[in-house]
Formats: sequence, C-alpha cells, structure tokens
Amino acid sequence: MPDPKRQLPRRVYPLRVLGMGLGAVVVSVVLWERNASVVAWLYMALITLAWPHVAYQLSRRSADPYRAEIRNLLVDSALVAALVPLMHFNLLPSVLLLTLTMVDKITTGIHGLWARSLPGMAGAAAASAALTGFHWAPVTSMLVIIACLPVMVLHTLSVSVVSYRLIRKVSQQNQLLDELRRIDALTGLYGRGHWQEQAEATLRRHHATDEPACLVMLDIDHFKQINDRHGHTVGDEVLRALARIVLNNVRATDCAGRYGGDEFAIVLRGMHLDNAILVAQRIREQVQALQLHDLPSLRFTSSLGVAAADHRHNSLRAWTNAADAELYQAKAAGRNRVSAGAMPVLAPVV
Ligand code: GH3
Ligand code: MG
Repeated sequence: MPDPKRQLPRRVYPLRVLGMGLGAVVVSVVLWERNASVVAWLYMALITLAWPHVAYQLSRRSADPYRAEIRNLLVDSALVAALVPLMHFNLLPSVLLLTLTMVDKITTGIHGLWARSLPGMAGAAAASAALTGFHWAPVTSMLVIIACLPVMVLHTLSVSVVSYRLIRKVSQQNQLLDELRRIDALTGLYGRGHWQEQAEATLRRHHATDEPACLVMLDIDHFKQINDRHGHTVGDEVLRALARIVLNNVRATDCAGRYGGDEFAIVLRGMHLDNAILVAQRIREQVQALQLHDLPSLRFTSSLGVAAADHRHNSLRAWTNAADAELYQAKAAGRNRVSAGAMPVLAPVV
C-alpha cells in the first residue's frame, strides 16, 4: 500500500496550483487597476505561479516529504501575507486571502499549525511592505469584488466537501464502534455492557409495571477441560455452538448475551418462572445432545440458574446475584441441571 505521507506532495500539488492561481486572478485585477510596475507583476507571478512548482519539487525530493510539506504550508502563508502590501492593503482581497490561508492551516488537522504560521506571515508582510514601499489604499472596487468570488466560492465548497466526507466517515466509524461494543465478536450475542443496559431496562419496567421477567445464567460444565484436551479452537467452537442454541430458544424480545468466558445470560421478558424454567431445561437438553461437526465424539453439558425479577431486586446486581446463586446451586448439586429458587433443583432427564 502506498505510504500516505509519501503521497502527500502529489496530493497537495494540484490544490496549491489551483489556490495560488485563483489568488493570482485576484491580485492581478488589483495590480491592473493601479497600473502596477513590471516588477510588481513579476513579484506577484513569482509568488502565485512559480511557487507551487518549487514547493512540489522541494517536498518530492525531500527525505521526509511530510515535514517538507508542512514547511511549504508555512511558506504558503508567508507568501500570501507578502501579497497584502503588494495590493496596497486592498481590503477585501487582503482579508480574504489571509483568512483562506489560515483556514488551510486549520483544516490540515495539525495541532497549532495556524499559530506557527503567524510569525512568518508578520515577517513576510513587513518585509514586503518595506520592499514595495508602504502604500495604503484599502478601498475595494466592484471589479476586485467580482475577482474575489471564484476563490471564495471554490474554497468554501471544497472545505465543505472535505468536512462532509469527514463527518460521514466519523459517523460510520462510530456506528462500527457501537456495533463492536454491543456484539460479542466470538458468539454474535450481545456483549456484557449492552446486555446489562438491556437487562437494567427490563428490571426498571418490571418495577414500574409489574411485568414479569426472568433471568437465566448459564455456564458450561468443565469448560476448562475442553480447552485443555482439545485446544482453544475447539473451545471457541463450543462457545459458538452454545450461542446458537441459546439464540434458537429465545424470542426476538428476549435478550441473550455473553456474560464472561463460558458464562451466558438471558433475560426473558414478560415470562413467569415456570415458563422460564422450561426454556432453561430445553437449552440444557439441547446442549447435552449437541454434536460438533468436526468433533462428534465431544459431549459437554451446562448448568443453569433462573431467577424471576421481584421487588427485592433493587438493582441489576441483586437480580444477577440471585441467578448466579441458582447457578452455583446447580453446579453444587452435580452440574448439567437447572436450579430455580423456590423450585427444586431439576436433575437431568436421562
Ligand atoms: P465449571 O464447571 O465449574 O464451570 O468449570 P469450568 O472448567 O467451566 O470452569 P470455569 O467456568 O471457571 O472456566 C472457564 C474457562 O473458560 C477458563 C478460560 O480459559 C475459558 N475461556 C474463557 N474465555 C474463553 C474463550 O473466549 N475461548 C475459549 N476457548 N476459552 C475461554
Ligand atoms: Mg464453566
């Protein structure tokens, strides 16, 4: 891939030719109006027409084109400032060209570049005033106003297009970041952060409207052994397969997430405990029956804890603690089972 910093001189070159060329039109009209000397015309041509090509050669031949281009940008500003005394401080073109060269520095995104350009601009303007003799004629004619229009319009539009592209890119990247934050990359289920937000919203709704909701915590039994015996790739495949089972057993209105390593959490909205236990049992049975395509001999099980939301759960932590306690019960009672509070621990159906 081409190095973008090496490409910089080539990208900047046509823009500088165009910008300085449009500037030349403006300055030419001012010079023409006041019957400027040949020296003044040469001075203007050197700055606006010759400089872009010199700048390109300088940065192209430099060992560090990026730094050379930054130097060129600072020279741009100084040269534009030198044009102001040449135009006898004609107000509109002077303010316009100085503003645009400042905008160019700001839109590079290089921190403080515009401020770094100020001393050079002041020095160049002073030197140019001394060279050309200090003439003060700020009044701008209609003709000069018209000559300013192309540079004004084109520059404003080009900066707008660049900003538009940037805004689009940032919003696309924000969307991607949000997606990455919401979705667990391995399983495709919600990641923990997003799952917690959804679960909190469900608990709030339960407190506000008494709508039932259940929380299922699931953990793979002896998952470490699967990793140790068959490797992490198989372990990952187990996690993915389990996530598919979970997804197949929940509705679009439920919320299933990967809570941590081999632990999954499911919020079943609008569901009472008895139905939630049935869902948990179904998942447990399907996990037990699962065969991996590449390793059909591998069997594994899962333990599940179920807790219905109730008034004692004043925070998500309290609710997850309740489901976690059930999960612990299921593990302690021998694994491959569902535990659900008041309900007896459900042993596996053999
Ligand atoms: P238990 O029945 O008590 O749950 O035993 P366990 O072996 O499953 O114990 P535990 O839940 O503590 O082990 C979790 C293991 O999951 C430990 C860690 O190496 C593994 N793990 C965590 N994240 C990943 C992952 O993304 N991929 C794989 N392959 N393994 C993971
Ligand atoms: Mg485990």
